[in-house]
Amino acid sequence: MSDTDDDQELGITESKAGQTGKWYAEVVQKAGLADYAPMGGFIVTRPRGYAIWERLQENLDQMFKDDGVQNAYFPALIPESYLEQEAEIVEGFDPEVAWVTHAGTEELEERLAFRPTSESIITPYISQWVRSHRDLPMRVNQWCSVIRWEATDTKPFFRTKEFLWQEGHTAHRDEAGAWEETTTRLGQYEKLYEEVLAIPGMTGRKPDHDKFPGAEVTTTIEALMPDGKSVQAGTSHYLGTRFAEAYDLYYTDEDEDEQVAHTTSWGLSWRALGALIMTHSDDQGLVLPPTLAPEQVVVVPIWQSETKDEVLDYAAELAAELDAEFRVHLDDRDERNPGFKYNEWELKGVPLRIEIGPNEVEDGEATLVQRPDGERTVADRDAIGEAVQDALDDVYAKLYAAAEETVEERIHEAHGRNEILGTLGRHGGYVKTGWCGDEACETEIKDQIAAEIVMLPLDEDEEPVHETCGVCGEEATETAYFAKNY
Ligand SMILES: [Zn+2]
Repeated sequence: MSDTDDDQELGITESKAGQTGKWYAEVVQKAGLADYAPMGGFIVTRPRGYAIWERLQENLDQMFKDDGVQNAYFPALIPESYLEQEAEIVEGFDPEVAWVTHAGTEELEERLAFRPTSESIITPYISQWVRSHRDLPMRVNQWCSVIRWEATDTKPFFRTKEFLWQEGHTAHRDEAGAWEETTTRLGQYEKLYEEVLAIPGMTGRKPDHDKFPGAEVTTTIEALMPDGKSVQAGTSHYLGTRFAEAYDLYYTDEDEDEQVAHTTSWGLSWRALGALIMTHSDDQGLVLPPTLAPEQVVVVPIWQSETKDEVLDYAAELAAELDAEFRVHLDDRDERNPGFKYNEWELKGVPLRIEIGPNEVEDGEATLVQRPDGERTVADRDAIGEAVQDALDDVYAKLYAAAEETVEERIHEAHGRNEILGTLGRHGGYVKTGWCGDEACETEIKDQIAAEIVMLPLDEDEEPVHETCGVCGEEATETAYFAKNY
């Protein structure tokens, strides 16, 4: 018996509503997405996990390319002297930087950082490539891994020291161009979540004390998980002129005058996979939207010895026809019974199962079963392509609706320290309250219940939800969204 069979027979033992963390870890491993690496904080992404990431990547990459971004690749190692040119980057990331200090037994003359993020190597090159206003805007993206040596429990895709992501870096003539870039990319992240991952996102900006080191404004897309915690699902930063000044990124304008560029950076990591798994999966295992599923349809023939040939032929022909339009797998294994196959494909998150038995063959039909809720429909063999498309659209709509309900039920207004703590304690989710802008008011809530301000409205001029700060009672300058987070 292979390892896969062992996993299969165990099934998922934890429940999502009970021990959510253990349930999540079990789904990740038993659906064959990832394993734990020998070093704490690192994971091995298995082919099934990587296939989902690749599909997500393709979707986002196409959005970038359609909108003027080019991919490039920079070294994983950054000289210390480069990192040091921007003081806030050093200060912000220093405790988490992994250093290469030796080559074999020889100590290096200069330490090299494994990139925690790449502003300090990409900006100096953009500065070499930009001469005049005609070279702007310049947009470069790279798909890579970064390392941030955080001391936390490993949670595959959510918390790992090394993670996969994309980081986009752009330079513009002025603030208006750079700000438009910042919000365009945030909008694309939102589109990815809503149209590909079936997860509604909420967009806003981070409070000043929680911005990306060196950024003027950090915008964020937050996704609420079923356990009531918020995930920072992607961030896009307007960096002002700070990085351009540090790395000498100037250009000559129409009047031949030298001007400093305005830059942005934006990143989305495989935490999106974590959010995907956490949001849709259930006690039977992984649930995937058809957009990202490695197999969208599994065809399971059900036969007795006397019907075997006709059932198999019918199923194979149907699978071949669908294969032109969908990602289809025909599970014609002899050694497994249909019930075993159903469980296995449910565990692995295939959105749609087609059952073919002697009755279906006789009636010229096919039975379609949707993964999220087991809804069964019978389709005419002649119109199978349409029926499959409808069922897959249905699956996507169901997943999105369920995720949307999770968010809508969990945004509450609260005012006053005890009401904020009580509401967060009872419902999780987001608590909206007025905020004076003082970090101390966040700290007070954080110390009590480990919730923080995850988001402020994007529009800084928006009237606060209450006139006074929900924590200290001073005048409120904006609305804060408190939540526990990943
Ligand atoms: Zn306050």
